[in-house]
Amino acid sequence: MSWLDDADDLEDDFEDYDESSYRTRPNPKANRPRTKRRPAHEDAQIGRVLGVDRGRYSVLLDEDTPDEHTITAARARELRRSPIVTGDQARVVGDTSGEEGTLGRIVGIRERTSLLRRSADDTDQVERVIVANADQMLIVVAAADPEPRARLVDRYLVAALDAGIRPLLVVTKTDLADPAPFLSHFDGLDALRVFTSAQSEMPVDEIGAALVGHSTVFVGHSGVGKSTLVNALVPSALRATGHVNQVTGRGRHTSSSTVSLRYHGAEGTGWVIDTPGVRSFGLGHVDPANILAAFTELAEVAEDCPRGCTHLTDAPDCALIEAAARGDLTETGRARLDSLQRLLQTFADKAEQTPGR
Ligand code: GDP
Ligand code: ZN
Repeated sequence: MSWLDDADDLEDDFEDYDESSYRTRPNPKANRPRTKRRPAHEDAQIGRVLGVDRGRYSVLLDEDTPDEHTITAARARELRRSPIVTGDQARVVGDTSGEEGTLGRIVGIRERTSLLRRSADDTDQVERVIVANADQMLIVVAAADPEPRARLVDRYLVAALDAGIRPLLVVTKTDLADPAPFLSHFDGLDALRVFTSAQSEMPVDEIGAALVGHSTVFVGHSGVGKSTLVNALVPSALRATGHVNQVTGRGRHTSSSTVSLRYHGAEGTGWVIDTPGVRSFGLGHVDPANILAAFTELAEVAEDCPRGCTHLTDAPDCALIEAAARGDLTETGRARLDSLQRLLQTFADKAEQTPGR
């Protein structure tokens, strides 16, 4: 990664959560000329947060160099409650040898390029950040057992499109059912690349090729075969697989934490970020324009919409709806408009349920 070569330029890129505490203290160096860069933690190394377990972070240092090694680190108190998650680029000081019994200290994180949050629900009032800096989302859904639900996939899609993350879809268990009827829901989506997978023919090379050079977060309801897929792509992952529990509909062994795993393929490497069965991400502040952008030619038509147009089926004077009514859209175009409206409706329903909005 090029930015690793030029550590000096990094300083400005980092969010320094400890900055406020520095401001409030008297500055002992007040008489010296101020340098642009803060002196604190000049010796910090930058590493990739692979996972978090009971307050201890596993951080990969010197990535892709002969010195690459993983250390355990704790968070500095000055970070207070700011979340640090899988995929974060952390600044680490202290003992970074990674030797048995040593502990580094995370003093800051690099500004994130993307962020996935799990939305607050009835059992979880806090919105949790779950993955940072992913640029792809692989949505795993089964053709059957459990039955695929377009609405659930819509939620993932909306979250991905809004975060600027490229969505990929894999339909597993195509040995059990034909995926075509389900896949027709997503016909209109330019941005979506689709794979299909069966027990005896998993598209490991095809999906693998799509992982190279990317950070791909794998999401899906439990029981869809996500762990089976992760194990096939990253044999050292040893993710627990299980059978769908008939009572709860959940997988028997669900992976309990989010981890980064490295994919090694013929063409290069990439990062697989495996999440426990996450059902939804925060959709409370989605910008509808980010969803529309995934429908390139519809976005062009929508330029003639009134300001603030929702493009939903009841939107007055919507240029998209008018174009469809005039017969200006092809059959595919109309199917695409349906897809778009369904995604926008997913967001609108969610926004309505979110308190305080
Ligand atoms: P996860 O909860 O999404 O991680 O799902 P698992 O990987 O644990 O798989 C759930 C169950 O589905 C296991 O019994 C797998 O053997 C089974 N399974 C996974 N992929 C396929 C597939 O392509 N076809 C069939 N028939 N079963 C599969
Ligand atoms: Zn419109």
